Amino acid sequence: MSGAAVSVRVPAKVNVQLAVGGARPDGFHDLANVFLAVGLYDVVTVRPADALRVTVSGADADQVPADGTNLAARAAELLASRRGLAPNVEIHIAKDIPVAGGMAGGSADAAGALVACDALWGTGCSREELLALCAELGSDVPFSLVGGAALGRGRGERLTPLEVGGAFHWVFAMADGGLSTPAVYRECDRLRAECGRGADVGSVPAPEPSPALLDALAEGDLAALASAIMAGGTSNDLQAAALSLRPSLADTLVAGEKAGAMASLVSGSGPTCAFLTRDEPAAKALAEALTATRTCRTARGAPSPAPGATLL
Ligand code: ATP
Repeated sequence: MSGAAVSVRVPAKVNVQLAVGGARPDGFHDLANVFLAVGLYDVVTVRPADALRVTVSGADADQVPADGTNLAARAAELLASRRGLAPNVEIHIAKDIPVAGGMAGGSADAAGALVACDALWGTGCSREELLALCAELGSDVPFSLVGGAALGRGRGERLTPLEVGGAFHWVFAMADGGLSTPAVYRECDRLRAECGRGADVGSVPAPEPSPALLDALAEGDLAALASAIMAGGTSNDLQAAALSLRPSLADTLVAGEKAGAMASLVSGSGPTCAFLTRDEPAAKALAEALTATRTCRTARGAPSPAPGATLL
């Protein structure tokens, strides 16, 4: 066992498409989830300690649990239990991904802790073993490990890597306060039932990825990606539910569109809003313009695709 600290950098994600099927009898939903990793990162550092401890730094640190419920701590415990080790590490999370923002920050930290502990303990997990452990920890965790772009089926954990033919530049508008992912899914079911269509598997079409969107990603075609995101209103089936729970997000989306975004959508279950822009300077200008509208807490540019969990 090494005594040195190990650090791993992990990216946030945006769901370029999130097609949500009907509620299954177990309460989960089948998804067609087009993940794209973006260049906003947390850094997870582990070092040997006499017990499992978690510390968090960064502007949103006070919103992150520093106990055994932290997803990074659960990842360390899972790997340790599988290898018959004591999970005695201090985990430090330098948090830059918005908390409860629909950008999979907790999932990123879980993937980061897994890779970091595997290196620290010399457990030598294969990529397949790491992916299987990630899937046990949560639906979005496998994607945080691999990064890039991928189609997630099932609950999002069955991944097929996707080709991306160029860089896309985004702006993310962070909201004050998070949204609970389960609450957003419940609201989605409620809205579907209210429309009279029904919310269960038999009533909602099976979720499918948009061929136009996958082609646009593969070709690196910005205009085509923007129109695929906006086709039918939005490519995110959770957007109406996020807006229902947080109506002020509509102002953020409109402000971004007025300020020149090529496409806008709520990121995953929200409340972070994502805006596609022409290039890096356009992203910088849009982030400044959006922040000045005060329809969000702050806005930041980030490129994509970004690499998955990376040992530093
Ligand atoms: P997703 O996009 O995967 O639905 P999210 O980005 O909306 O997730 P997270 O930032 O992962 O949300 O946080 C969701 C909740 O998980 C937080 O409110 C927090 O209580 C808890 N949590 C546990 N571990 C972490 C962690 N390492 N970082 C952030 N939140 C964590």
